[in-house]
Amino acid sequence: MKLMLVTDLEGVAGVLDFANWCSIDSRYYDKAKKLLTLETNAVIEGFFAGGATEIRVVDGHGPGALDPELLDERVELQRGAATPVWPFTLDDSFDGIGWVGQHAMSRTPYSHISHTGTFDVFEATANGIPVGEFGEFALCAAELKVPVIFAGGEEAFTREAENFAPGVVTVSVKRGCNSEEGLDDVSSEVYSRSKLSAIHLSPALARKKLFEGARKAAEKLASAPESFKMTAIETPFEIITRFRKSEKNPQLPGVLYRRHETSFIAAMNAPSTLE
Ligand SMILES: [Zn+2]
Repeated sequence: MKLMLVTDLEGVAGVLDFANWCSIDSRYYDKAKKLLTLETNAVIEGFFAGGATEIRVVDGHGPGALDPELLDERVELQRGAATPVWPFTLDDSFDGIGWVGQHAMSRTPYSHISHTGTFDVFEATANGIPVGEFGEFALCAAELKVPVIFAGGEEAFTREAENFAPGVVTVSVKRGCNSEEGLDDVSSEVYSRSKLSAIHLSPALARKKLFEGARKAAEKLASAPESFKMTAIETPFEIITRFRKSEKNPQLPGVLYRRHETSFIAAMNAPSTLE
């Protein structure tokens, strides 16, 4: 059983905000990386306990957020953008894919540090369905017929994953306390500071739950692979990204489009156009 595990940073228990924890010059970046890497190791341990034989970890946070020295030595680690970027070296030799440390998409009520790629993105849709970082990757996996088996991160993200990929095993490690009220028209900069309150599990308990969930997901993949479902979208594919107004990037257009007639992965890799 060969699995891919995609990591992100904002959905990790104990990671409090973006400015101080999630960018390379953040004062607590090293601490955040350690918290993520230990959550990642808990999922790896669970996957192996549930029957996995091979795991590739993808460091999915922009500048890289895993500490390679702390990472379980049994896995492969992919860092940096591949060519083409999507689907991050996933191919149909994988039996399943999971996430850890993930956050929900922009505009999700009661999520923590919600965004889609960057805080500049107001909303992204795939054939009209709102998608976040998870949904974009999950649709690539669907094209390769790789089932989404596990989703660990903040609670709103786990709901997003359940809606998108019914049957996925989820583990929530914190829950956001902010609604979306009044945030539709704010700038990227204001939005990035507006979704920062959350109730966190202790990192130790988060890791125990992640281990148990990941083990269950791998066992379920072995015993009932057909129980993992995926939102299906039909050809042709159109990804539309709508942007907030931004003080730092005032040149951003309101909307960008990517399209492909037959492949969602090719649409993800396609150049963005203004119409
Ligand atoms: Zn992210």
